[in-house]
Amino acid sequence: MAEETIFSKIIRQEIPTPLLYQDDLVTAFRDISPQANSHILIVPNKLIPTINDVTEQDELCLGRMITVAKKLAKEEGIDENGYRLIMNCNKHGGQEVFHIHMHLVGGQPLGPMLSIRF
Ligand code: 5GP
Repeated sequence: MAEETIFSKIIRQEIPTPLLYQDDLVTAFRDISPQANSHILIVPNKLIPTINDVTEQDELCLGRMITVAKKLAKEEGIDENGYRLIMNCNKHGGQEVFHIHMHLVGGQPLGPMLSIRF
């Protein structure tokens, strides 16, 4: 049984964080440490620790994350200029919270996709 993270408490509103969106599958709220003018997290309500744990049963939820990202990007007014969706996995991916989530970042030019160089 995977261990809950702070995100489960936010989803259940045990930690009062303003929600930008919530339905039966996903919840969205602003990142506590924004890396761009607009930085939103879109999180499955179900605890899935990493992308490696995703199954076919999660496909509806993962699709919902994209449609919610699109809706929130429009509400943020960043849809036309563009934005980036990011999901990190495990150590090399830089994942810090082990409850999968999609970062929606934008509101300014974001530069190159990766900072590493070969
Ligand atoms: P990761 O590195 O796992 O892809 O991203 C985790 C993100 O969660 C980070 O951008 C971090 O700022 C954000 N975060 C961590 N704890 C909290 C919290 O308690 N509230 C909110 N709103 N964001 C959080």
